[in-house]
Amino acid sequence: MHTRTRSKHMNQAEAKIRIDELKAVLWENSRKYYVENAPTMSDYDYDQLMHELERLEAAYPEFATPDSPTRRVGSDLETPEATLEEGVRREFVQVAHRYPMLSLGNTYSIEEIEEFAARASKSLEGNAFTYCCELKFDGTAICLTYRNGKLLRALTRGDGVVGDDVTENVRHIANIPQVLHGDYPEEFEIRGEILMPYASFEALNRQREADEDAPFANPRNAASGSLKLLDPEEVGRRGLMCTLYHIPVQSGLPYATHDEALRAAASWGLPVSDERRLCRNIEEIEAYIAHWDTARKALPFATDGIVIKINELEFQNLLGYTAKSPRWAVAFKFKAEQALTPLLSIDYQVGRTGAVTPVANLEPVLLSGTTVKRATLVNEDQMRALDLHLGDWVYVEKGGEIIPKITGVEPSKRTPGAMEPVFPATCPDCGTPLVKPEGEAKWFCPNTDGCPTQAKGKLVHFLSRKAMNVIAGEATVEQLYNLDLVRTPADFFDLTPAKLSLLDGWKEKSIQRFLRSLADCRKIPFPRVLFAIGIRYVGEQTAKDVAAHFGSIDTLAEASVEQLLEVPDIGDVTARAIYAWFREPAHQVEIQRLKAAGLQFSAEAPRENQSDALKGLSIVISGNFSISRDEMKELIERNGGKNSSGVSAKTTYLLAGSKPGPEKIRKAQELGVEIIDEARLMSLLPETAAQEMPKNLFQQFEEPTLF
Ligand code: NAD
Repeated sequence: MHTRTRSKHMNQAEAKIRIDELKAVLWENSRKYYVENAPTMSDYDYDQLMHELERLEAAYPEFATPDSPTRRVGSDLETPEATLEEGVRREFVQVAHRYPMLSLGNTYSIEEIEEFAARASKSLEGNAFTYCCELKFDGTAICLTYRNGKLLRALTRGDGVVGDDVTENVRHIANIPQVLHGDYPEEFEIRGEILMPYASFEALNRQREADEDAPFANPRNAASGSLKLLDPEEVGRRGLMCTLYHIPVQSGLPYATHDEALRAAASWGLPVSDERRLCRNIEEIEAYIAHWDTARKALPFATDGIVIKINELEFQNLLGYTAKSPRWAVAFKFKAEQALTPLLSIDYQVGRTGAVTPVANLEPVLLSGTTVKRATLVNEDQMRALDLHLGDWVYVEKGGEIIPKITGVEPSKRTPGAMEPVFPATCPDCGTPLVKPEGEAKWFCPNTDGCPTQAKGKLVHFLSRKAMNVIAGEATVEQLYNLDLVRTPADFFDLTPAKLSLLDGWKEKSIQRFLRSLADCRKIPFPRVLFAIGIRYVGEQTAKDVAAHFGSIDTLAEASVEQLLEVPDIGDVTARAIYAWFREPAHQVEIQRLKAAGLQFSAEAPRENQSDALKGLSIVISGNFSISRDEMKELIERNGGKNSSGVSAKTTYLLAGSKPGPEKIRKAQELGVEIIDEARLMSLLPETAAQEMPKNLFQQFEEPTLF
């Protein structure tokens, strides 16, 4: 699908830089999307970057690596750096898929569908075949196994090779039958999508806002986040549904076509969509696409395209798979839906960093199943680029993000004499003249500590889940600020039950809950505290890097710009921002007060090593053990060993627990790396270390599951 020519505008070195850049952006966004269920980029933008990477790798194959996002299915398995919703299960049991669970090649253009059809026809050497066109349901993939007519297991796609076992949660999804009827096979696998209908999504987000939890960006993220909750009963309450669309051809059931297999599945009581159509040629496919491009808007759940599959299973077998997707299917994706609506007014909002963002108030309009009333205009340059005038009709679009964007204006609907909006010269909140620092696209209010909106934004950030994780949100901060009870984070720790009882509707229970949650802040490690205090440019990762480098806030506060620049990945702007922050007397007082409140301002002293028994050994762990994976890693480190994440020629042992990752096992076998189990590891440690382990350590583990 992509041209293989090297760009005239890019030399080899530039191509390498761009490839690395694209990989990093795609990995990062893939984690936000699949694991954290909180994307910050639109699907369209993500797909464009992926296609750019595909094109570059085709032109510069010397830089194409097996771990590239172009060759891997985006993984929903938890990673150490992921930040998850409260109540989301950590460390699900992972089970190998019997057949890999892949993605789909996708395109936004009909020409590429024509190319897909031509390629299939060529590979099938003129044999007549048909297409089965289906809706592309926008949820999260699921693989169900039924044995003797009963639901045995449900796995997420995971990384395509192993998935998370979510069987108990899936048992609470109303339209998934526990028991089948009719003439079902003894054992089979069927795949499909778990969806959250719009109505459940809106209700869930209303509830989350009332509870001061961050709302989900879209129904897909809500479905995928809900499927991984700790409490199956709560999963049941989230109103999820399932639709099934694929019985793997490898399962050898006696059907000649995909459509026949789905009809059989429906006859056993499984939820299969009736909206699929058999098409004989590209014209019929186009008609199907054209129909659903509009008709999908009336569906009660989200769809993001059409999937076109070769219907004959014999031909599916012949065409086979690439590393990432079947060659017998392709997805045509719809561009994000747009709506046209009048602009009522513009608000200029100040964020916690002081950046001023223009936000459009719109005549409410229905878009992708939800009502949109406000949309971002990004910055002054974007308003100019749109040629926006007051009272204009504007096109609004929803990407992956929660905040819709204005993507264009409709000049034919402009009232003659309409005025251009004037960007304010002073802060709409505190009246301080705005500034535009060099290199910034936004205007800023420089009154960082005195501007009420910035102060409130910093307080909300301080309490947020990724920072101090205190059970409270914007509404609480608003009240505390307006009552003059809290101005800076340190003021939270001076709150008393008497002061908190002044808050609307706060009774003893909510007061105690809040105070307990504040007391728990003392357990939060230094890097997160550093992130929470909200120094500009110090995000989660930078806070970790800086904390690891300096070890304590006192050393950090003394550091010069040059010393700050020694921290890997810290640039000039961040180093200067940190340096300046600590020079402010009010900030020094704030740190002293937070210290007095008991927050952690130094990294924990490394625990003394128990032994050097594993010195010089590089160990990769995989699977589940009698202790958590983090505890196992700590045990290795405390006995002098080094934990590595991937198996390589330098790995000494692959420590395999139950259900290890098949890919790691394969790699270890390929490279001749010795695979050991937990009991063997323990035999390498001195007895004292072994005695510190939980009692059930020497239990028998299941054999590693390979498929
Ligand atoms: P995909 O969603 O584009 O397509 C594959 C999936 O479609 C399958 O795994 C299956 O779950 C689903 N599907 C729905 N209906 C189907 C049907 N009728 N038949 C077969 N499969 C059907 O691919 P993906 O690998 O799940 O996700 C990749 C996409 O996710 C990207 O193209 C991008 O749009 C999006 N994404 C976005 C971000 C972001 O930051 N916005 C990040 C990562 C991925």
